[in-house]
Parts: sequence; C-alpha cells; structure tokens
Amino acid sequence: MDAWPPAPVPILPPSHDPDLDGRAHVFDTVTRGLRIVGPEQGTAGLYVCGITPYDATHLGHAFTYLTFDLLHRVWLDLGLAVDYVQNITDVDDPLLERAAETGQDWEELAAEQIELFRTDMAALRVLPPRHYMAATETLHLVIDTITDLRSKDLAYQVADDEYPDWYFRSASVEHFGVISQLTREQMIAIFAERGGDPERLGKDDALDSLLWRLARADEPAWDSPHGRGRPGWHVECTSIAQRYLGETFSVQGGGRDLIFPHHEMCAAVGRGVANGARFAHSYVHVGMVGLDGEKMSKSRGNLELVSRLRQQGVDASVIRLALLAHHYRNDWEWFATDIDSAQRRADAWRSAFASSHGTPAAPIIDNLRRALRHDLDAPRALAEVDEWTSAALAGDGTDPDAPRQVAAAVDALLGVRFG
Ligand code: ZN
Repeated sequence: MDAWPPAPVPILPPSHDPDLDGRAHVFDTVTRGLRIVGPEQGTAGLYVCGITPYDATHLGHAFTYLTFDLLHRVWLDLGLAVDYVQNITDVDDPLLERAAETGQDWEELAAEQIELFRTDMAALRVLPPRHYMAATETLHLVIDTITDLRSKDLAYQVADDEYPDWYFRSASVEHFGVISQLTREQMIAIFAERGGDPERLGKDDALDSLLWRLARADEPAWDSPHGRGRPGWHVECTSIAQRYLGETFSVQGGGRDLIFPHHEMCAAVGRGVANGARFAHSYVHVGMVGLDGEKMSKSRGNLELVSRLRQQGVDASVIRLALLAHHYRNDWEWFATDIDSAQRRADAWRSAFASSHGTPAAPIIDNLRRALRHDLDAPRALAEVDEWTSAALAGDGTDPDAPRQVAAAVDALLGVRFG
C-alpha cells in the first residue's frame, strides 16, 4: 500500500553542548522506566500499530501517530536511519460490522477511510512509514507464520465442529504477561472487553488468541493451507513487523489501550516464531484522549476528527501544535478551545520566525533536543520556543540568522512548519 508523501526534514547543525545526551530515552512499558531506545548507530526499527479503517482520523489516533513521529524525528536528528513500519487492519470484525450497519461495501469503506487517513497524516506532516502494509496484502505472511507455529505445536484448532478456527497457545509462551503485568483474572476480563473471546468453548486456554478465522457466510475469506478464512489481528502485526524489521526491533508503539491484549499477544506470537527471542526491545504507549469526559472512541461515538477540523478551516499546523501541547504519557481531554490557544501560539511563532533578528539559535536548539530526547517532552519543547519567540518579538537579540535557524529546528524536530 502506498503511504503518503514525506515532508522534507531539514538537517540541523550539530550541537556543541558536551552535556547534551546523544541518545533517545523513552518510557518503556515493560521496565516501567525510561530506557534508551534505538541503536547507537545504524538503523532503528519502529513498528506502530495502524488503523482499522473507519472513523479515520480521530484526535486520539492523530496523537498516537504524532508521538511516534517525534521519536522518528529525534532518531533522524541523532543520525540514525529509521525503518518505520505500520499496518492497516483492513479486514477485521469492527470494520465488517460498521460496513454491515451502514450497508456499505467493506472494501469501499476501507479504501475511503485509508485515503482520508493518508491525507490527514500528510497534512499533519507526519513522516510516512517506509512499509505501509494492509492486512489484505500480507495474508501470505500470516499464513506462513501460522504454518511455522503449527510445526512447533503452538497453534491448534478449537474444538468446534462447525468452525474449528486456529488459535495460538499464548499463555504457554515464556514471558507472557511481562508487558501488561496483569493477573490472569485481569487479563481474562480485559480480553473479553477488547474483542477477545476468553469464554469460547473448545479453547485449550481462555487466553489463547485467534490466528485464523475460518470462513463464515457473508464474510470475506481467502484460501490457505489452514482452511479458507481470514487472519486474526495480533498475528497480522507480528507477521508484518517480523517480515520488515526482523525478529527483534527497537520499538513497538501504540495507544495505551493496545497494551493488552494486542501487544502482549503480538509479543507472544513473535517469541513463538523466533524461538524465544524477544519481539520489540521496548514498548511505548500513548495516553488516551478524551472528549466531554470520556475516552474518545469509535464505540462511544464521541470523536473529533482531524478532517472535520480541517474542513472548518483550521490549519493543520495549528492542530499539530494543539496536540503537541500534551505530553504523550498523559491522558487528557480535548476542548474546542484548544484550537484557540494553539492558533495564538502559531501566530506568535510565525511572526517571530519572520522577524529580522533574534537571540542566538544554538541554545534553544540544544534545549529542544534535550526536551525531546528525554521522553519526548513536547510541552517543554513548545515552552522553549515560546520563550525564544517572546524575546524575539520584544526585540531582544541581534542575530539575523536566528529566526531562520529556529524555524528550521522547529520544522525538523517538532514537524511544525507554517505554509
Ligand atoms: Zn498492531
């Protein structure tokens, strides 16, 4: 699948501050602490779970992809290459249910929503994944993964005469549970809430996850050595990640609601395939965005969409600034007035970047790097630019190159550029 066109990323001058940390540190869900992510040199591998294409792109999703865009930009600024992979779950129960509700063809719905997502991401200047892979174009990868798991007795067919679907022995894999750190009872409860089927009869273990769902009437299905059917969600991400990033890679990311079951199950399948080798080095999770006091979610129908704001005439750079005003680890609530404060900030920055001089750029560029390398602290980075902006607008500083240099740093590191 084609991703979206990349925005150019300016290359910034190296820092001369000996105290500036030369690595990216991000909060890792497994170790519950800051951890260096990415290699010292070479290529960082990033897998961020993509959308199920309906209701694209609400602000909760946009916040997640922006967060990993910051990490992408931090790595680029550190001189690393970034191999970024994202999937599209373009065949799954929620998509098929939505299509059935509205009477729309599921493929048409998916295609429309994928296009909308791509347009939103390009407008927000999110750097595109190198590999943007849809479930329907990677069926062969899933099929191969299941063949491999079967050969290791990690896959089995559920005892169901009508639909003996294939399941993965999740709980039998070593280290199952280290990401979520939940008790078995908590896992079962959350699994049931988030699309799992712990209560299904015929499974060997309540926490085993679906690998391949055999064809039902009126559902899309594909031929495979495991029977005609369609892939489960967790095995989809694992298969795509391992195909393009190798057995083990730097970071798997997503919203905090993906910790369990999704990322726990992905990691378990990954270890099963890789004979026990860990899946991602680190797991990074983004807080939930609320609207009117509740988590923004498709099932609740309380969504604010990037495309709707853009239709209302809000500049995408202003949406980006409104989202970056929140730290990625916090849960927060969206208010319509967030746009007003982001617009004021954008206006001030734009004026400062256009001024004829300012205070020197090097210290503020160091501070931006420091903030982002320390757990992607975007709010602190914005405050640094605000401070420089206020000084520039007050007429402080005589460096004629500073406005252009600060604008380039804001573009490279924060992805904010005014058209
Ligand atoms: Zn995923």
